[in-house]
Amino acid sequence: MSLTVVGSVAFDALETPFGQRDKILGGAATHFGLSASFFTQVNAVGVVGGDFTDAEWDVFRRHAINTDDIEVVAGGKTFFWKGRYEYDMNTAHTLDTQLNVFETFQPKLSDNSKNARILFLANILPMLQKEVREQCPKAEFVAMDTMNFWISSMKDAVIDTLKVVDCIIINDAEARQLTDEPNIHKAAKAIMNYGLKAVVIKRGEYGATLFTEDGYFAVPAYPLESVFDPTGAGDTFAGGFMGYIAAHNEITDEVLRRAMIYGSVMASFNVEKFGTERVDALEYSEINQRFRDFKRMTHFDEIPFERASAA
Ligand code: AMP
Repeated sequence: MSLTVVGSVAFDALETPFGQRDKILGGAATHFGLSASFFTQVNAVGVVGGDFTDAEWDVFRRHAINTDDIEVVAGGKTFFWKGRYEYDMNTAHTLDTQLNVFETFQPKLSDNSKNARILFLANILPMLQKEVREQCPKAEFVAMDTMNFWISSMKDAVIDTLKVVDCIIINDAEARQLTDEPNIHKAAKAIMNYGLKAVVIKRGEYGATLFTEDGYFAVPAYPLESVFDPTGAGDTFAGGFMGYIAAHNEITDEVLRRAMIYGSVMASFNVEKFGTERVDALEYSEINQRFRDFKRMTHFDEIPFERASAA
């Protein structure tokens, strides 16, 4: 029942209209791993520098995340990202990226990580994502993320990786950019045509949409009145989504739709405080309460699954 994630482990400096932090734990694999750890056992694969302290390791330990495959480069510095958000809180403006030890990152997977049933390739160089996927032939469900930078600089490599995964979790602008298709439904179909089973398109505060061969399912974002820091919301969504899938033997459309709701539930907590603070301290009772709120809000159990091609 385990899940492996490969991606960045970082120090982030963040500015939002509600405050700022100079150096806090971040990174895609961190946000994803914390979120998924509420549903399944997580193996994290990444790299950090000698500046990573016990305080950061403790966050992983508290959630029983296996960090054996997070390499420590003693003389190096951890990947650093600085971002700023305007009032709309939907778009991150990158102010600084220092790759540091991440620049020469070569994921090394132990047998334990390789044997995971579920694999998430967070946003890293697409060729590395493909290499990791190939190291995990037994993975039953593999999802990837990517970003505008890779799509504009090496779209062919992103597409090569797409062809060896089952699912992609990206935002709407990335889906349009990847397919040169302005209509999001056509963009999702074009992506599915590479052989994927599912495409998840995130739309920030407006929620996320799941496309499968036969279906279409949209979840809203939880209606929060206080959003402090959206950093990692996408990865936290992916962690809830993939974690829930990992906790199920069969990956049916029903499981994927429920996974979408858990993704939205987890992301809603992540944005309530800076960095990993909120999810780190989360209780199952809070997750369950918010899942019930979602069901009430969306009448989820009453909605029959619609076929996208019904018309
Ligand atoms: P998200 O807000 O879900 O897109 O992810 C935010 C996290 O991604 C932050 O914690 C950053 O440390 C990390 N990040 C930012 N830029 C990059 C990059 N170029 N490669 C990998 N991770 C990144």
